[in-house]
Amino acid sequence: MATKTLEARFEHLSVNDENDSHAAGKTLSKAKKGSVSTAVSLTGLGPANPPAASSTRNQLLKIALQNTTESKVNASSPNLKDHQKSSTVLYEQPAPKTLHLGMFEIGKALGKGKFGRVYLAKERSTGFICALKVLHKSELQQGGVQKQVRREIEIQSNLRHPNVLRLYGHFHDSKRIFLVLEFAGKGELYKHLRKENRFPEWKAAQYIAQMAAALKYLHKKHVIHRDIKPENILVGIHGEIKISDFGWSVHAPNNRRQTMCGTLDYLPPEMLRSGSQDNFYNEKVDLWSLGVLTYEFLVGEAPFEDTPVMTQRRIARGDMSIPSFISPEARDLIKRLLVLDPEKRISLEEVQQHPWILKHCVKTEKASQRSSNQK
Ligand code: AMP
Repeated sequence: MATKTLEARFEHLSVNDENDSHAAGKTLSKAKKGSVSTAVSLTGLGPANPPAASSTRNQLLKIALQNTTESKVNASSPNLKDHQKSSTVLYEQPAPKTLHLGMFEIGKALGKGKFGRVYLAKERSTGFICALKVLHKSELQQGGVQKQVRREIEIQSNLRHPNVLRLYGHFHDSKRIFLVLEFAGKGELYKHLRKENRFPEWKAAQYIAQMAAALKYLHKKHVIHRDIKPENILVGIHGEIKISDFGWSVHAPNNRRQTMCGTLDYLPPEMLRSGSQDNFYNEKVDLWSLGVLTYEFLVGEAPFEDTPVMTQRRIARGDMSIPSFISPEARDLIKRLLVLDPEKRISLEEVQQHPWILKHCVKTEKASQRSSNQK
């Protein structure tokens, strides 16, 4: 079955609280089965990979590869207008289903975040492969991040772009919240960067072009990400990047004070300043972070990396130096993004047309345009 149909089905899965559903009896027994298999296969405490389990995992991975291959084809059809896409979905949609844990076969653990674990999963009836993120309500409460998670879900579930990680749906039981996410087959970009130390210019330029396209889409939808960094970017099976982690994202315009947490390296100067009026900022904060990202991709470390106090001081002054091995074109783009005055930063349209991007990306773009025109 084509991925599009499967994705379409996911579009119409509605949210369910397994505890208060009228169909609780039915759902719960299924869910419990799912929970048990989750506990066994995911903690690694079960009988060490019985043959059946490991072959199921291999199957899951195989289908994951198929799914992502097909979704790449769909994603590379920019000629399909939004209304055409949604009308296809309308015709293909089955009766709305309710999401619950029993619907998923759980595969290997993909990773662990601050508030939960992520598993490879397969929706049983369709074979659709996804990533299931499990968040424990008690941990969210202890961390005081329930609001943040709610906002992340609200924002991310409304986004559809090939370079933005899809959130297909969510559901919960008494203890946990489950997010049904698009599976990013090549994992964290951060790990790729650490492994390669720094990216060659062609690769960095292609990543930055994809970031610019994704940010343009987000900003058009009035979403500011505010936490762009390699740790929050995943890589699809074809090497395409997927922005994830919308925990700090907001709907623009925004005038909230920034709570300092996590890394300071990517924080724009306007979010550092204290004082009432100065705390107003807009989507241009993501452009600053794009500049930091470009630098880190090419150099292997962030431009203001220092002690926390010094990092803040250096950001406030825009105090950084670009190593001599960086090409003049890349140097120019970094300098145009890391501008203290947010209004003077280069726009995303200009990033897409920048000589460094055109030099490394134009062939790929032409090729993908050609292949989508042929369809
Ligand atoms: P998070 O809690 O979102 O930080 O996720 C923890 C880890 O799980 C990440 O660092 C990734 O390695 C992995 N991961 C999260 N989401 C996905 C996904 N959609 N596809 C593949 N791996 C993922």
